[in-house]
Amino acid sequence: MTDSANNTLAYLNGVWKPLSECVVPINTHALQYGTGCFEGIRGYWDGQRVNLLFLREHFQRLARNASLLLMQAPSVDEMCAIATEAVRTNAPKGNIYLRPVVYKKGTTLGPVLANVPDGYMCYLQMLDSYFTGERGLNVCVSSWRRLSDNSIPTRTKATGGYLNSALAKSEALLNGYDEAIFLNDRGQVCEGSAENIFLLRDGALHTPDRTADILEGITRHGIFELAKELGIAVIERPVARTELYIADEVFLVGTGCQVTYVRSIDKRVIGDGNRGPLTARLQQAYEDAVYGRNPAYRGWLTPV
Ligand code: PMP
Repeated sequence: MTDSANNTLAYLNGVWKPLSECVVPINTHALQYGTGCFEGIRGYWDGQRVNLLFLREHFQRLARNASLLLMQAPSVDEMCAIATEAVRTNAPKGNIYLRPVVYKKGTTLGPVLANVPDGYMCYLQMLDSYFTGERGLNVCVSSWRRLSDNSIPTRTKATGGYLNSALAKSEALLNGYDEAIFLNDRGQVCEGSAENIFLLRDGALHTPDRTADILEGITRHGIFELAKELGIAVIERPVARTELYIADEVFLVGTGCQVTYVRSIDKRVIGDGNRGPLTARLQQAYEDAVYGRNPAYRGWLTPV
């Protein structure tokens, strides 16, 4: 399997085909109106096999989100089976990223969810780092506000909602930053364009709660487990913007970015600008878990 991966076998509505041959009509609802929801799932190569991380948890979230958006996903078991089949048939020998999508495949005119037929796709690509390099991130608070739960619920991971992420991330990159941090419509800290955020203050971790218009990240939940084992309290609560600037450590978590430390926010250096000691411990614990080196976290992994 090559990195360009156009000839990897992908699944589209019941048929396995080379990725480059998986095409949809230009009047597809999801393309016109952003009516889809998706997941991103990592698989880690341990030298012998790919271990899919939080496989079932991702598909449970996808099924719940699809239902919220009046879409019908295949069953969780079926989606898990398609994902493992994609890995088995393509036999990658490295770290991968799986992208399953439930989407409105109808071609009728008009933005509506009810009574429009649903489609399902799943494909994979090779993926190592999401951010380049091991250095920390220089981030900015975005001038774009996060979508609110009463407009496009961020927790649904809706395809159309990622225009909001794309605007913030593009602004950040064009201004020379690595990533953007959103505030929500109440002006509170929300999340990155594709990551949840944690701050270390007074010896405890703080992260925006689940009503703060965040995606309820699966990695975020994993960090709760790791922090508990390290004896670090995690407090879910509204976080003010200026708390970011005075935090002892700040890091982003997500399937893509894993655990990545923040070096500066709006040009204010966090700590001494190096990776903080707690971030380092969590990063190590996360890496040990996802590569199957810690038996206590084998339950996170599905070997293929
Ligand atoms: N927030 C957003 C907006 C995201 O797109 C992602 C990536 N899925 C995350 C947070 C992190 O979520 P997870 O840990 O489930 O990948």
